[in-house]
Amino acid sequence: MIRIKGLKKEYKNVKALKGIDINVAKGEIFSLLGPNGAGKTTTIRIITGLTKKDAGEIFIKDIDIFKYPDKGKKLIGLIPQSVNLDVDLTVNENMFVHGLLYSMPLGEIKEKSRELLEYVGVYKRKDSKVKTLSGGMRRRVLIARALLHSPEVLFLDEPTVGLDPNIRRKIWWLIKKIQEQGTTIFLTTHYIEEAEFLSDKVAFLDEGEIVKYDTPENLIKSLGEWAVDFLDHEKFNTLFFKTKEEIKKVLSEKHDKFHIRRVNLEDAFITYTGKRMGNG
Ligand code: ATP
Repeated sequence: MIRIKGLKKEYKNVKALKGIDINVAKGEIFSLLGPNGAGKTTTIRIITGLTKKDAGEIFIKDIDIFKYPDKGKKLIGLIPQSVNLDVDLTVNENMFVHGLLYSMPLGEIKEKSRELLEYVGVYKRKDSKVKTLSGGMRRRVLIARALLHSPEVLFLDEPTVGLDPNIRRKIWWLIKKIQEQGTTIFLTTHYIEEAEFLSDKVAFLDEGEIVKYDTPENLIKSLGEWAVDFLDHEKFNTLFFKTKEEIKKVLSEKHDKFHIRRVNLEDAFITYTGKRMGNG
């Protein structure tokens, strides 16, 4: 559904993308996971036509979106990192402006707006000015607005950044629900648990390069089943094991302070990039 080949972007002195390749199958949720500055926003901005690429190709449903930007635009829905709704307009008015930009007939805008605002749970506030809504509600309106023209692919740039954990989970379930309707989803995140919860496939992006790309399960399994965190001589060290028997052997040597747990996606990220994400 989405094919990205050799995408490159260089700003003045920064190689933001060094030639990345990504394939996302129809109906999948794909996450581009990386720390601040990895190149996630640049990728989304190029795909959605907001930034010019230096090299590379992007096909959505076999359509070359650089050759046919108008066709590409219709296939894509975008939820940007910063809320770019018009805060002085009502929720409904924001929906209408978007529908008109996509040349939708008025009747269809009205019908679909109602359906989508109900779907994301903000229909009761349809006549409220956006500036009176909470951060979580605004993000729901952004999601409804991005779905108005029935895109086949939805791009979300850091969909839950700055939201509290409770609202973050609600947005996750909403994203899953959108996937169930058949929409292909491409998201960027620096929250490891978000990528682990949502994704069918994850790519670790680091300094403009994709370091590893697979299902979260395979990325975790590639390290082992169990992780043991040791505190040796004030130094924190983690080892991975396939079985509990292997752990026993190591623990029979002298280790005072240790903690046994399941391997998680953060372990895989640290192992393959050599970096911690720094957001807990
Ligand atoms: P964040 O989550 O902080 O937005 P990111 O992974 O989305 O991080 P990008 O915003 O794509 O990363 O930035 C990738 C690199 O390109 C960074 O080093 C950033 O400083 C640089 N960069 C991004 N936009 C510009 C610009 N307009 N001019 C110069 N450098 C830029």
